[in-house]
Amino acid sequence: MIDLRSDTVTRPGPAMRKAMAEAEVGDDVFRDDPTVIRLEEKTAKLLGKEAALFVPSGTMANVVAIRAQTHHGDEVICEETSHIVQHEVAAHAALSGVQLRMLPARRGLLSPEQVAAAIRPPNIHHPVSRVVEIENTHNWGGGAVYPVEQVAEIARIAHEGGARVHIDGARLLNACAAVGVAPSAYTQHADSCSLCLSKGLGAPIGSMLAGGRSFVEEARRCRKMLGGGMRQVGIIAAAGIYALDHNVERLAEDHANAKLLAEALAELPGVEIDPADVETNLVIFDVTRQGLTAGQLVDAMNDRGVLFIGIGPQRCRMVTHLDVSREQTEEAISQLRDFLTT
Ligand SMILES: *Cc1c(COP(=O)(O)O)cnc(C)c1O
Repeated sequence: MIDLRSDTVTRPGPAMRKAMAEAEVGDDVFRDDPTVIRLEEKTAKLLGKEAALFVPSGTMANVVAIRAQTHHGDEVICEETSHIVQHEVAAHAALSGVQLRMLPARRGLLSPEQVAAAIRPPNIHHPVSRVVEIENTHNWGGGAVYPVEQVAEIARIAHEGGARVHIDGARLLNACAAVGVAPSAYTQHADSCSLCLSKGLGAPIGSMLAGGRSFVEEARRCRKMLGGGMRQVGIIAAAGIYALDHNVERLAEDHANAKLLAEALAELPGVEIDPADVETNLVIFDVTRQGLTAGQLVDAMNDRGVLFIGIGPQRCRMVTHLDVSREQTEEAISQLRDFLTT
């Protein structure tokens, strides 16, 4: 099977498992786990922040980030198809009591102008615009990457308006690989930033949340409240360290495979995709003009050993990652071509 459903499907290989088996551990709620401490320090350094926190999932990273930086009744400005809106079970309403102010944007990327217009001046009738949240790369935007200057400008406007900035950086390192910048090019503008270890980086579990020292201490309390305080979790943190050491450089290969898929799809009859939109490892395309539903294409390709998902009645998504080789990418293309042209 060629599994293009998500970059979360990667499995730890022998070297990563060996690092996990040999990890030195302790009780992390007592802050006794040397491997977790090493992962947190390594991530803080990578993201250019004072501190970082290991959390079980990217969703928890975002929940903790919002909860630690807001009060009930505050407003969080974000894009309408962002992960925090679509895929976090309304956690921010349920657990933080915040109102999400959802702005529409092409490929999920907010403009500085619309953020400026959305931030509310002090007024007894208004909620407080407490956080501006941006997603980089943007998942439902097809892996779209924010230009660094756009993030800098959004953050300048947010801070001027008294709001903090959170980056949902589940795939931040994909953005960095695409643009050719260090993570700090983005994170220096943000008060908090998440990062998934369990996507393209190939770890089985875990995300990171980075920011200033006092923010991370508050986030640690929130994580405990949510039931995310973990014990001898160095065994998992070791996989994260391995992922950061070995699987960052190679993200460019996933981007090249995604580009190959996009260019091949663009040539197929009735498939709509602009390869220029495929900047990272996500490939979103539309099959309306084929007279097919996403489900029909997904099922037909499934039978041919190529897995991906429908994300709308006629929209499909493929994701490249470290368990899909160039040869498998070519095989997926050849199966698609065979099905759609014969
Ligand atoms: C995957 C993802 C997350 C976190 O997902 P989990 O499954 O909870 O780890 C957060 N934000 C974005 C943009 C994502 O793609």
